Amino acid sequence: MLDIRIDTKRYPDRSGRPHLALSGLRMQVARGEFVCVVGPSGCGKSTLLGIVGGLDRACAGAVSMDGAAPADLGFMFQEPRLMPWMSVLDNVLLVVPDAVRAQARPRALELLRAMELGDVLDAYPGRLSGGMMRRVALARAFVNEPALLLMDEPFVSLDSPTANRLRAMLVAQWRRCGASVLFVTHDLREALALADRICFLSPSPGRVVFELAVDLPRPRDPSGAQLDGLHAQLLARHPELLAGLPAAREE
Ligand code: ADP
Ligand code: MG
Repeated sequence: MLDIRIDTKRYPDRSGRPHLALSGLRMQVARGEFVCVVGPSGCGKSTLLGIVGGLDRACAGAVSMDGAAPADLGFMFQEPRLMPWMSVLDNVLLVVPDAVRAQARPRALELLRAMELGDVLDAYPGRLSGGMMRRVALARAFVNEPALLLMDEPFVSLDSPTANRLRAMLVAQWRRCGASVLFVTHDLREALALADRICFLSPSPGRVVFELAVDLPRPRDPSGAQLDGLHAQLLARHPELLAGLPAAREE
């Protein structure tokens, strides 16, 4: 169980005064659970992931996983963050500790084949499309078989068929490896397509204001009637939650 308690997280603003980015945020993620965090731009979603991932320790609060600091993490960010001078395969192996890199190679190859990148293992990122680069980043996020996967709007600015294909690949790998996932997005439809549960954050300073268990069967069709129905129901019942989010996409 991942247990997140952030009492306050402050940044200095431009004049050096503290600006409150998160306040009174509580969240739990069960082992193997897929939780999406939805909230408007600037509410502190990336800040939250940075704290959970141990990249940012300057806050009042505590984050633990089964009683200890979260270890065994996988990350995926908005930008694929590939090294341009390294091959596709080496970009995936980059995050594997030296001592176990040789052992991890078959798993990296298997993941890249599952991402349909088996033909470009030796290519450099400059030759790849945006969607292919994200698939490399997705393979890299899973290569250490993480207990916890932290994803920060990883499919933003892709066209919708490409994003849907990547979402299906993500769900397939998540189900195979059983990681807990904390996935940040400002796209409610994306959250409904992916999550076991959605935590909605308030506008800045962010805290959880509503939680929703998503009981739709998988695989889910992101533009299917069931998801449409749930989306419309949420908009009607909780319009305040969606204030600040981009309007629903027409697909
Ligand atoms: P989100 O990911 O939800 O868009 P962020 O976590 O990036 O939001 O930012 C939350 C708030 O904290 C915003 O007001 C942002 O301007 C501020 N912020 C984020 N990172 C920094 C930083 N490194 N220094 C100062 N302020 C920051
Ligand atoms: Mg962000």
